[in-house]
Amino acid sequence: MDIITRFAPSPTGDLHLGHALAAKVARDLASTSLHGKFLLRYEDIDLLRIRSESYLQIEEDLKWLGILWDEVPLRQSYRLEAYARAFQKLRELEMVYPCFCTRKEIQGEISRIQGAPQDECFSVYPGICRGKDREESFDRINRGESHSWRLDSHKAAKLHGNLFFTDLRFGIIEVDPSKNGDVILARKDLSTSYHLAVVVDDDFQGVTHVTRGEDLLDATHTHRQLQSLLKLREPIYHHHRLICDSEGKRLAKRNFAHSIRQYRTNGLTAGEVIGMLEEI
Ligand code: GLU
Repeated sequence: MDIITRFAPSPTGDLHLGHALAAKVARDLASTSLHGKFLLRYEDIDLLRIRSESYLQIEEDLKWLGILWDEVPLRQSYRLEAYARAFQKLRELEMVYPCFCTRKEIQGEISRIQGAPQDECFSVYPGICRGKDREESFDRINRGESHSWRLDSHKAAKLHGNLFFTDLRFGIIEVDPSKNGDVILARKDLSTSYHLAVVVDDDFQGVTHVTRGEDLLDATHTHRQLQSLLKLREPIYHHHRLICDSEGKRLAKRNFAHSIRQYRTNGLTAGEVIGMLEEI
């Protein structure tokens, strides 16, 4: 099998060491197969966060690092129709429900369930709007109330049954719909989200191996569910380690000190930066 991988940054600022590692892992894996391909994809659906100059800067940084991609990079912002079609399919399957909760309401409910102070709880959506009366929800939507659309992860599990995914590092993992829960799949004004776009595009681009940081391991439970519901191909996964500072904390993506451009300006060579990825 020819391995096809991708690096999928959001063009929202400089590339930093964590990105360089993600790109290198993907490129290295693709280069183990004779006709392997390493693709570049811009996750640019969140137009408010996009910086137009970032596309070119990302390409300059990758070239400087010697990490070269195949084919014309894909922009998710050009693919909204494909995501809208996938979303429509999920609606027809009745696998999504409208959610009217504010962030505050969600946090309040989680802390009520867990008995924890509001700012300390990080958890999956507690299902407040799941099972709400459909007619009433549609009335609220028609009145223009702000809402999003969530995956009904447990209803989905009843349809697709047991699912698994293979990770090159962690082995075979059984999908647990509660891990990531009822994630947002679309918003009032945008018929997609990270989760939906990523599975649609991995299939569209024929990605055989999804390589990404281990912080996204839980998201893969959702992604396998979506692949099954949408009848998309199932890639193999490789959730790689993250780059941490000397205290073991994950490097912040926006930390300027670790931007590739800054290393270059400081006179480091590309080989030295690549070397740092192996050391950290
Ligand atoms: N844009 C994501 C990130 O930078 C990548 C997500 C993915 O590979 O699925 O972490």
